[in-house]
Amino acid sequence: MKRVGECCGCSLCCRRLVIPIPHPGAVQRTPLGIRVPLPVVVNPDLAHFYRTRGLAVRPDSVEVPLPGGAPVQLGRQGSQLVVRVPHVCAQLDKHGRCKIHGTPDYPKACAVFPRVPEDLLDVADECSYRFEGETARAPSSPTPSPSCGSPG
Ligand code: SF4
Ligand code: SF4
Repeated sequence: MKRVGECCGCSLCCRRLVIPIPHPGAVQRTPLGIRVPLPVVVNPDLAHFYRTRGLAVRPDSVEVPLPGGAPVQLGRQGSQLVVRVPHVCAQLDKHGRCKIHGTPDYPKACAVFPRVPEDLLDVADECSYRFEGETARAPSSPTPSPSCGSPG
């Protein structure tokens, strides 16, 4: 399925974070947010994306800082278990623009988002992309992208 359209810069995907998890008990609360285990082999682009967003990347986990009381939702994206949190990217400026768009630091994950139709589940209200041949925004397939892409 092919992604079509252009990013309108709504920045919704920069304000939400969806992280794949191996099982429902994998998410741990910490004093500052949550800790989520990483796969044994971590894609360097994914690690860069998490660091760029302001997350602490450990050898076996990633820590997401969250304000007290922020909702943490467990759910699915296609066949993948995920955790959803309201997390504002550290690179988003006060005008809702990406400070590093067009620079070498801009994460690949941001450039390709939404990568699959399932990625639209969390941003469908605002995202200006769609997928050719898409019949419904229903869960059904591959591992989702971790999140995002608002241009500067
Ligand atoms: S990729 Fe979609 S959700 Fe993200 S900023 Fe662009 S239009 Fe908005
Ligand atoms: S597009 Fe920029 S502001 Fe949005 S998540 Fe990616 S790095 Fe952060």
